[in-house]
Amino acid sequence: MRGSDETRPTVAVIGGGAVGVTAAYDLARRDAEVVVYEKGEIGGASTGRAAGVLYDAFAAPEDARVGERAIERFREFSGDGDFEFRETPYVWFAREGDEKRAEALREQVPQMREQGRDVSFADVADLRDRFSAVDWSDVGVAAVAENAGHTDPGSYADLLAEKARDAGATVRTGVEARVDADDLAVDSVAAESAAADDGRERELFDAILVAAGAHTKRLLAIAGIPVPLKPYRVQALTAGYDEERRADLPMCYDATGGYYLRPHPEGLLAGDGTEEVESDPDDWKRDADREFRDITRDRLARRLGDFGAVRDSWAGLCVATPDRDPLLGELRDGLFVAAGWQGHGFMRAPALGEAAAESILGETPLPEFDPNRFEGDEEFDVVEGMTVE
Ligand SMILES: Cc1cc2nc3c(=O)[nH]c(=O)nc-3n(C[C@H](O)[C@H](O)[C@H](O)COP(=O)(O)OP(=O)(O)OC[C@H]3O[C@@H](n4cnc5c(N)ncnc54)[C@H](O)[C@@H]3O)c2cc1C
Repeated sequence: MRGSDETRPTVAVIGGGAVGVTAAYDLARRDAEVVVYEKGEIGGASTGRAAGVLYDAFAAPEDARVGERAIERFREFSGDGDFEFRETPYVWFAREGDEKRAEALREQVPQMREQGRDVSFADVADLRDRFSAVDWSDVGVAAVAENAGHTDPGSYADLLAEKARDAGATVRTGVEARVDADDLAVDSVAAESAAADDGRERELFDAILVAAGAHTKRLLAIAGIPVPLKPYRVQALTAGYDEERRADLPMCYDATGGYYLRPHPEGLLAGDGTEEVESDPDDWKRDADREFRDITRDRLARRLGDFGAVRDSWAGLCVATPDRDPLLGELRDGLFVAAGWQGHGFMRAPALGEAAAESILGETPLPEFDPNRFEGDEEFDVVEGMTVE
């Protein structure tokens, strides 16, 4: 990073989602002078649309480390402001007859255990004993992760933005930013005037972090830097569910059916509805599809029996990479990127934002996610991130 030892490094963070505000907090508390540019509201893009399913059940060593650190920090922050980490086990399973996913589960669970994750196989009798609200009769192979929970993702982003401010960061919302990678400059303008594209204000920094979620590829392309990222659309809904049975509901991922569900303060939340095609980050359908609502109702009825009316449903964007690992680290001298989470960005944000901050301050915490491992023009298909295969 540019800048001298005697002065505080100046860092711009583009994007006030969960990852950007975490990085801003971790930079500011380590004495960097930080400005966050967010074109909408804090947590107003993918973060505010996330399901808030949190777990550390990852098999690869670097993913397991990130997962462990993220959950540790969620616990640390819980109770601060409106943010609450609600401890709830996570059960994922392959149905009987789905040998491909059963085999993947049989392989992954011992690997996760080797990484120190608190996960174990569970048979149908164990599951019935522990979580009687769910119909487990079609389950072939299942595992339970204990180090897991759920939350309202917006409350996390708000808390971390506040903590960043308290640590000295400047957080500007409603401000759209562009990056000049050669000069390490940020050209910003009030978001409502961005289309006219005049009156941009230029500020120079020692480092710039682009954590702009689904807009990261476009933002970096304007700066002349190609990165292999593809936004794709996913969907979720909330529905009513009996309060007593809710207390007995774990978070579940049916790997065969490709959907998840979790308890929610007003009932339950379920999601999937993944469109495995690239979306335009400025032009995509925000509402959930009727087909997604219908199919999810059928799934919930099959798994839980009675549940209440659908209350809300929506779509949002996740971002894919060619190898399903993120781009996290220095792309060009002083220009850093943090994006491409494949549907696991929120649950890992406390660790990924921290790792982004550390890499800006000169450490290389996660070499596996080096953004320079790609040319930027790779051809690849969008594959949903939670897939077990
Ligand atoms: C329906 C749904 C369910 C999901 N469920 C989960 C889940 O259960 N668990 C999980 O881990 N993940 C989940 N995800 C994924 C998760 O939402 C994302 O991985 C995560 O929120 C990404 O955070 P981020 O900070 O990288 O991006 P974002 O939250 O998208 O933040 C990027 C920010 O950058 C801003 N920005 C963009 N361009 C500019 C610019 N030029 N200038 C200024 N600001 C700019 C945007 O306005 C935005 O606020 C889900 C996603 C969806 C849509």
